[in-house]
Formats: sequence, structure tokens, C-alpha cells
Amino acid sequence: MRDLATDTSGYADAREVAEFAAGLSESFLLCRELQHNWKPWTAQRDNEHNNYVRIIRCQRCKTAKHQRLSFTGTILSSHYDYPEGYVHANLGRIVGDGRDVLRLESLARLLGADVLKAG
Ligand SMILES: [Zn+2]
Repeated sequence: MRDLATDTSGYADAREVAEFAAGLSESFLLCRELQHNWKPWTAQRDNEHNNYVRIIRCQRCKTAKHQRLSFTGTILSSHYDYPEGYVHANLGRIVGDGRDVLRLESLARLLGADVLKAG
């Protein structure tokens, strides 16, 4: 286990990702592995700031992405509202072998964990 107090890489340890992934709901795991499945949700014109505010929402996990768009369609800013349980506060960013672990957890749920271990 890495020492959270001294690890400043900001990246998640693969073993910790494995533990986290095992406890994720199907929708959270799929969104983390395959990315969100966005659909436009709401939009309004903001005359005070001369732009649009749009919310797109993931059909699978219900994460909401709030975007501010210029009148020419450029994304000026965005932020996410995640459903409870989606974010792991101390895990760090999941990249590289951490993402591999997410794919393996997804495969294990399809094939059965024993199949992967026998491989
Ligand atoms: Zn999602």
C-alpha cells in the first residue's frame, strides 16, 4: 500500500484500484472503464454573460456535466457533478495499469473471476 501522506504523484495505485473496482456498481464500473454515455439534459441562454449553460447527463450513472458555451459553440468552462459513491476521495487519478485493472474487473464480471485467473 502506498503512503497517502507522502505520495504526491496524484495517481492511483493499481492494487487500490482493484479493491475499489470490486466494490463498484455495474454502472459505475462501466462508466469508469468505457467512459460516460452522455445525453443532453437541459440548456438555457444566459443573457447576462452572453453564453449558454448546458447540462449533459450520463444515461448510465447519472453523472452531470455542466458546460458553459459561447454563442459560437466553444466550451468556455465545464465541471462535473458525480453521484454519491462514484468518486473515491483518496484514490488519485486512475491511469495506465489502473485502467487495466478496471477492464479486468469488467471482464471478470462477464466471464467469471476463475476464468481470468486460469488464463
Ligand atoms: Zn456515467
